[in-house]
Amino acid sequence: MLEVCNISFSYKNTEFLEDISFSAQKGQFVGILGPNGSGKSTLIKLLSGYLKYFSGDIKINGLSIQDFSSKERATKIGVLSQESINNINFTSEEVVSLGRYAHQNGFWKYLTEDDYLIIKNSLHATNSYKFKDRYLGELSGGEKQRIFLSQILAQSSDVILLDEPSNHLDLKVQASVLKKIKEYAKLNSKTVVSVFHDVNIASIFCDKIIYLNNGRLIDNGEGNEKISIEKLLKVYEIEFIETIVNGRNLYFPSSFFK
Ligand code: ADP
Ligand code: MG
Repeated sequence: MLEVCNISFSYKNTEFLEDISFSAQKGQFVGILGPNGSGKSTLIKLLSGYLKYFSGDIKINGLSIQDFSSKERATKIGVLSQESINNINFTSEEVVSLGRYAHQNGFWKYLTEDDYLIIKNSLHATNSYKFKDRYLGELSGGEKQRIFLSQILAQSSDVILLDEPSNHLDLKVQASVLKKIKEYAKLNSKTVVSVFHDVNIASIFCDKIIYLNNGRLIDNGEGNEKISIEKLLKVYEIEFIETIVNGRNLYFPSSFFK
């Protein structure tokens, strides 16, 4: 279980993220929504331990992430950031195998048969097994994104942090990859926290959604309603319209239709 308790952070002197609290259970897929610059990526960086919060605490299964060694942290937290290293001279399979690094023991680190099986399954989960021998630099943006997602799955961490995971993915791949990640989290009791730009994708895939605006938490996702026109207005400061497709409520900015 992931608990975020009253964390605050700032890049310069003025407080930016202020008093953020929310929690995410094992197996839960939690979305973060908010406009550009609202602090979504900053929050992901705090959750991953990349940035240090000033006050409050972030706990995984009751333990503060600040007390983990870097190796422990890698077994607990996997992160797909917005800025991935792009053209390292590794094959896709090698990139995914880096996800197993924190699980290797002993002085001579080597991959076991189990590791190879996990790497293979992780490549299959994002439908990227066919790219395994290709160098990362030879792949398209969407193909690379799938390799990085496979690496996160191979890492088998308790918490998986994704910053706009469906970026670069075409619509077919988007749906299948998000479904796979959701299934994987449920089946293996992993917690996923993911930033989304598309409110409808977030509403379809997330069990709960937290909302940020200008560094403040507008909604911690604990209410009955996951998404509504009123929440979207407060967060994005624009009018949305609601429509029902296949029994599901979908939301679009009303300016799209003017
Ligand atoms: P989001 O992901 O919601 O678009 P970010 O968390 O990336 O927003 O950024 C939140 C705010 O913090 C923005 O105003 C951004 O300009 C600022 N910011 C982000 N990174 C830095 C940094 N390294 N130093 C100073 N300000 C930053
Ligand atoms: Mg961002």
